[in-house]
Amino acid sequence: MTILEVRNVNKSFGGLKALHNVDLEVEAGTVHAIIGPNGAGKSTLLNCFVGRLLPDTGTVTFNGTSLLGLKPHQINQVGVARVFQTPEIFGDLSVLDNVMISSFAKRDGAFRINAWEAVEDRSEVRDKANSVLEDVGLADSRKMLADNLSRGDKRRLELAMCLVEEPKLLLLDEPTAGMSRADTNNTIDLLQRVGRDITKVVIEHDMHVVFSLADYISVLAQGAVIAGGQPDEIKGNPRVQEAYLGG
Ligand code: ADP
Ligand code: MG
Repeated sequence: MTILEVRNVNKSFGGLKALHNVDLEVEAGTVHAIIGPNGAGKSTLLNCFVGRLLPDTGTVTFNGTSLLGLKPHQINQVGVARVFQTPEIFGDLSVLDNVMISSFAKRDGAFRINAWEAVEDRSEVRDKANSVLEDVGLADSRKMLADNLSRGDKRRLELAMCLVEEPKLLLLDEPTAGMSRADTNNTIDLLQRVGRDITKVVIEHDMHVVFSLADYISVLAQGAVIAGGQPDEIKGNPRVQEAYLGG
């Protein structure tokens, strides 16, 4: 079953064609990687999925619902969550509060701090948040200020903030960018372990990560999908090698 369908998406910035007739189908329950050289249009494409950008033409359909024109929080509410390239967390709140807030934000639409402070019974949300922190390996840091987490742990926290929303589709933009090899391997392990039933779209530069995680790979080059297939097919594809070496 297709959970995300992208048809004929075009996007230009002034004279620059960032996306060119992009078609993509993401199967439910899979990890779908989008790879391509720098500037290929990967982040632009992801931004079209989450309401940060509106394509010039084309459709983006999630579970039969068009995502185009929805506000980011509405896209969130239909079951799509996103991990950003740089963590977006509340640095002066505790790790646990960050996850709880994320859970409320999903329930109430846009997050309002005064609404959150007015909530009396937080126990159910707290239990859920604690269990997700356990899953991502941050249980012992739950009382720490988010700002004081290491870089790798901030990314874990952001993942926890997404998981607590119980999304159907999780979008990850370069989840291992800037990480050491050890942190990268921990992240691969984490992504294999958590949210097994969540469909994941992973934008990734690191081929080690891509080939460890992906069930299916789409290759973008200069705004166009130039190849798609299972990891073994992609590995030996001369067009892909050319795009990387020549790009
Ligand atoms: P990737 O994520 O694959 O590295 P991007 O999607 O970030 O690539 O960028 C694709 C192209 O579009 C690049 O040439 C980039 O400079 C350009 N671009 C991206 N966002 C904007 C923007 N907001 N305004 C103008 N040009 C942009
Ligand atoms: Mg990018």
